[in-house]
Amino acid sequence: MKIANILKDERPSVSFEVFPPKQRSSLESVERAVKEIAALKPAFMSVTYGAGGGTSEYTLEIAKTIKKSYCVETLEHLTCVSSSKDTVLRQIEAIKENGVENILALRGDIPAEMADCDKKSWDYNHATELILQIKDVYPECCIGAACYPEVHPESSNSKEDIRHLKEKVDAGCEFLTTQMFFDNSLLYSFLYRLREAGVTVPVVAGIMPITRASQVEKAIRLSGCHVPQRFKSIVDRFGSDPEAMKQAGIAYATDQIIDLFANGVSNVHVYSMNKPDVAKGIFSNLSCILGKIYE
Ligand code: FAD
Repeated sequence: MKIANILKDERPSVSFEVFPPKQRSSLESVERAVKEIAALKPAFMSVTYGAGGGTSEYTLEIAKTIKKSYCVETLEHLTCVSSSKDTVLRQIEAIKENGVENILALRGDIPAEMADCDKKSWDYNHATELILQIKDVYPECCIGAACYPEVHPESSNSKEDIRHLKEKVDAGCEFLTTQMFFDNSLLYSFLYRLREAGVTVPVVAGIMPITRASQVEKAIRLSGCHVPQRFKSIVDRFGSDPEAMKQAGIAYATDQIIDLFANGVSNVHVYSMNKPDVAKGIFSNLSCILGKIYE
């Protein structure tokens, strides 16, 4: 099923993200986590592609299992910037052959060793080119793309970033998923600017439950997002107690999600980081809100 159709439903929905293992020896534990998260029957699950230095070898295998074995709709991430056209075409073909109907089309981060290369010789420079490529060889595929409520770190301003975002939508992207954010007011003003720029596709809000103090620094480094004082106080107070920090992190993420639902943002994607206990904690906190849909 196309995720764009799932998102048309105005009832609140929660989906989860998982990532593939770096080594085959960890595949079994990732598969166990994926199975437990899928058992919650979320709206869909996404599988990252080489994010944070990981590999992409198992992305399709995991995405296929989620759809075929657990009957949960799946979204496969695909990046292009450090790949050749041949590699990307082979990936799209494999995705199509394996019945995966949704791709999150991403540029990917530019590897440090490629930062000074002549970018003109690259097959892909931006996600828009990947979207056009997928449209060309797999037109039935439902394509999503990334967006940044606090502006992509390489953009000089929000206007420029939204202009490029609109190019992705005009190229065929049917929905957007946001980078993590910890202050909902930043998302609301971003949505306002998007709609003003004529971007009308559904926007799925990306929520990262921070359950370990060490995650905060990594989250800021990877996304550049603003951490409100309210959240910093939680980390200061509970960061050294793993169980208390986990409970507080799940509660903070739940609070963000309830506020989003209350303000008309119906679709939330949780960066569940292969942690079934975090996914379960959030689902359990939202049981009455989501109850009618997920029972
Ligand atoms: P783009 O849309 O290409 O944008 C990158 C920058 O280029 C922006 O500043 C944009 O404004 C600018 N730009 C766009 N088009 C043009 C143009 N034509 N001319 C000039 N400038 C332009 N990374 C992974 O490696 N694997 C993953 O699985 C993964 N999943 C992600 C999921 C989500 C929801 C998000 C938000 C990010 C994810 N990332 C992942 C990280 C992502 O790859 C990086 O943020 C990357 O730096 C940008 O990717 P993009 O697709 O947004 O790029």
